[in-house]
Order: sequence, then structure tokens, then C-alpha cells
Amino acid sequence: MIGRLFKFHGGIKPDAHKNESAGVAIRKAPLPPRLVVPLRQSARAGASCIVAVGQKVLKGERIGEPEGFLGTAVHAPTSGTVTAIDSCPMAHPSGLDTPCVVIEPDGEERWIEHATPFDHHTATREQALAWLRDCGIVGLGGATFPSHVKLGRGSGIETLILNGAECEPWITCDDRLMRERAADILAGANILRELIGARELIVGVEDNKPEAVAAMQAAAAGTAARVVAVPALYPAGGEKQLIRVLTGVEIPYGKLGGDYGVQCFNVGTAHAVYRAFIHGEPLISRIVTLTGNCETPGNWEVAIGTPVEDLLALARPRTDTDRYLMGGPMMGFAMPRLDVPVVKGTNCIISASPRLFPPAPPEQPCIRCTECAKACPVELQPFELYWFSRSKNFGKAQEYHLFDCIECGCCSYVCPAHIPLVDYFRFSKSEIWAREREKTAADQARERFEFRNFRQEREKAEKAAKLAAKAAETRAKLAEAGPAEAPAATDAPAAEDPKKALIAAALARAKAQKAEIQPQNTDNLSPQTQAEIADIEARRKVLEAVAATPAPQAAEAAAAPDEPRP
Ligand code: SF4
Ligand code: SF4
Repeated sequence: MIGRLFKFHGGIKPDAHKNESAGVAIRKAPLPPRLVVPLRQSARAGASCIVAVGQKVLKGERIGEPEGFLGTAVHAPTSGTVTAIDSCPMAHPSGLDTPCVVIEPDGEERWIEHATPFDHHTATREQALAWLRDCGIVGLGGATFPSHVKLGRGSGIETLILNGAECEPWITCDDRLMRERAADILAGANILRELIGARELIVGVEDNKPEAVAAMQAAAAGTAARVVAVPALYPAGGEKQLIRVLTGVEIPYGKLGGDYGVQCFNVGTAHAVYRAFIHGEPLISRIVTLTGNCETPGNWEVAIGTPVEDLLALARPRTDTDRYLMGGPMMGFAMPRLDVPVVKGTNCIISASPRLFPPAPPEQPCIRCTECAKACPVELQPFELYWFSRSKNFGKAQEYHLFDCIECGCCSYVCPAHIPLVDYFRFSKSEIWAREREKTAADQARERFEFRNFRQEREKAEKAAKLAAKAAETRAKLAEAGPAEAPAATDAPAAEDPKKALIAAALARAKAQKAEIQPQNTDNLSPQTQAEIADIEARRKVLEAVAATPAPQAAEAAAAPDEPRP
């Protein structure tokens, strides 16, 4: 049954450029001389290293342990030797480094012993989610959000949508995957559906991929899954946009599909779930489209960690290629360097030339034509966001829902003034994040300082209380003992004067303390003990001096030895 389809706001129809790479079957990319496997596959999915340099690893062996709630495990993409654990540059506009495990393949592709298929019917939901985390499964549509977290969020989910729209121009990795592995994708999708308890499974594929639609429909025949061809309109593959088209549900600002009973997973993710549950295999490779200005465009199954420069050799870029884009031309970015590894989120690398991607005309002033607002699929006001970003009025930009912008590029695409609007929005977001990070760091430093002060005050008070208690105890004992306990040498004066008796008792205690410590070689004692000895000695000398003075002065000094010192 074909349900009614709905429209989302805005959208554009750029040239698809799918035919360049979609016509050739997926090929397996050869292993490079070294694999650079990042322990952090995205901003969210982190892992800590559990291998050492020189260690032999097998294909599929875990090399990174999930870190925290959002962490996912990382595995060796092939068998070989760990040759380095180091920070390496990443495929990111910033080119920032991240910790990586460098593996030199031995060429034998020896697998770890495969885990038995994971039967999610007999396992608890928590065990199944833990299995996804341990297999390193993240969303392969580009966002690389950890799948165990996304699944864990869902409750009361009625509909699972499988996203095969692949709306971004030039990219065809999902198209080829659906054409060639439709049954496996559906098997994975059904596992996901059962895990979130969804009643309904809908597969959405843009209608410019008729072969993929046919393959998925054939695989779904006789099942409850519905495969729906949706009109090709960029960005129909956006999660909220596809949910809108297939179900009519409009997800408002700040909400997720899960809040409205709908969850959405990419077809590549469903395929990875199938490999994890049915074959016990972790996520160690993915399909990457190599296309653009090159001799042999196509799709390749690539080991995670393969350096982009090694991979590009398979596409044979033409000599007039002037840069490389990771991702599509709408949402991707120009790579600052090529010695970066393929990660789980790498879906496409485009060789760009001035002929295919002419330089943008110079930016002109905004004429307030509102074309950008008409094209925005999220119904934002891009020209307003542009003004706020330009003037660094980030508070206002947030008020105008900057963080709902999916950076689809529709506004930039239609802007007659050629304003690179998305670049402004990315700048604003990164500035806001940087300020929040700074604020968090400052708050944490302040908290640490306040706690330290509190701790020092508390220790001081405890020490003073202890000394006071000790002094009171001593005074009480002396009062109880009376003059009879005073040392023999001072017997006579003590009997005459109780204050002298106090001095004599304090002297006796100081002597006793000294006698306890004296037999030792004080040079070997700790500085603290030596200080204590010196202190006792000093007090003894004072007491002796006081004892030798006439009675009135001695009485004043008598209280001193047992008083708490400041
Ligand atoms: S499309 Fe460009 S010129 Fe028109 S309002 Fe938007 S930003 Fe301004
Ligand atoms: S980039 Fe952002 S503001 Fe521009 S059209 Fe897309 S969602 Fe709207």
C-alpha cells in the first residue's frame, strides 16, 4: 500500500550528478601500507586505547574501549601490527588532531574468532544496546551518532523510517548498497524495529534511484515493510524532512523524531546492524563514493583508517583537480590535507575542478529578497541569522533558532547576492560553542577554588578544636592529680604554690616526650618529627627559665605550654 506523501517547506533541486558513480558495482579497496584508526570517530563516539605499540592484532579485534555514555568501541580493520599510537590530523575543516592507532597490515586478513550471532530475541534490550556499542555501530548517514544511544532514547516508537533518500548531489554509496545488499539492509532494519518496539517500518528512497527502489521492494515483498519512492528534492534525506514526507509529522524546533513516535536510521547503519547481530562483526569498513573530476569514479568498500590519499589513487583524479571535498558539495567541506584517514562518517570524496565547481562570484550586500527563507527546509530566517552572525550578536542568533539550522546550504544556493550564508552560521555556532567551553572551564575553576578554600577552613577548624580539647583534658588531669604528682625536685615549692606545680608537671611532660624521642638519631627522622622535637625542646627551655623565676612571673607562664598555639 502506498501511503499519502507530504511536502516539507522549501528545498531546492540541484543537479544530482549521480550517474557518474552509481553505474559501477561496489569494489573492495586494497589495504594501504598503514591504517590510521582514530579512537574518536566523531565528536561524540570516543574510545580509550587498549593496545600497545608492537602488539599484533587480528581483524575485528577491539583496540579502543568505549568511553563514557556516548562512547563506542573501535576495532582493528585488518590483522597486523600496531606501529604507533599517536595524535594524527583528522578529516575536518580544522584539520585538528585526534588520538589514533596506526596499524601496519600483515596482508593476511586474519579475523578474530567471530562471535556467535547475537540473538536479540533472547537478550534483554540493555544487552542488545551494549552489543551495538561494543561493535562500534554509529549512524553512517554522516552524523555518526552512536546507535545504542539513539535506540536507547526511544520509547513509545510506532514507526521506524529507514533513510535511503541520499539527497545530496554526487553521493551514491547508499544507492549502491541498496541495489546490492537490500535483503541484509532489511534484516538489519527489522532488528532495529524490534529493538525499539516499532510497529511499522517504512523505507524512504528518492525517486531518482529506481534500481534501488526496485531492489528494496523486491527484498521487502511478503513482509510488512513499505518501500516508498519520495520525490527527489534536496534535502529530503534530512531526518525531519523525511519524517515529514513519509508520515506528515512536523517535528518542531528543539524536538526529535523520537518525541513524536518516529525513529529514523540510515540504510548503511541498518546494514552495519545486520553484520553485527547476524555475523558478530564489528564496524570496520564502509562504502565510500569517489567521484567528480576523476577517471574511475565509483563506490568502494574501504577499511576504516585508510588514508584518503591512498584511496584517491583508485579514482585517478584528473590533473586539473584543484581540491577535494569530503561529503557532498552542499554539506561537505574542502579538505585542508589528504593524509587523513577515512572514518565511519566518510561517505564521499569528490575531486573538484574549476570546471565542475566554478568559484563563487564575489559576495554582494543582502537585498532582503527573502529567497533564502523560502528555500529553508527548517523554516528559519537565514537573512536575519546572517545579520546577527555578521554583527556577532550570538544571543539574537540563538533566539532565531541558529542551532536548528541543519547546514543544508539551500539558502546559500539560492541567494542572488552570493552570500555564503552557511559559512556565517557555522562560524556563529563554533563561536558559541567556544564561549560555552570557556565559561564551563571558568565555572569549574571557580568551583575548584571555592572547594579548596572550604576544605582549608574546615581543616583549620578541626585542628583548633582538637588542640582545645587536648588542652582542656590536660588541665582537667592536672587539677585532679593535685600537687602530689609533681616531680620530686619541685615537691617543696609545689606544695606551697599550685601554679608552680603546674609548671613542674608541664616540664615533666616535656622531658618525658623528649626522652621518648631522644634515643633515636634525629637526623634520620622526618622533618615533621624533627620540628616537633625542636618545639618540645624550646618549650622545655622556656619552662625551665620560668621555673627559675620568682613565683608571680612563674604563675603567668605556667598556663602557656598546654594552650593551643595559633
Ligand atoms: S537570499 Fe541573500 S540577498 Fe536575499 S534575503 Fe537572503 S541573504 Fe539577503
Ligand atoms: S543552511 Fe540552515 S538556514 Fe540555510 S537553508 Fe539550510 S537550514 Fe535553513
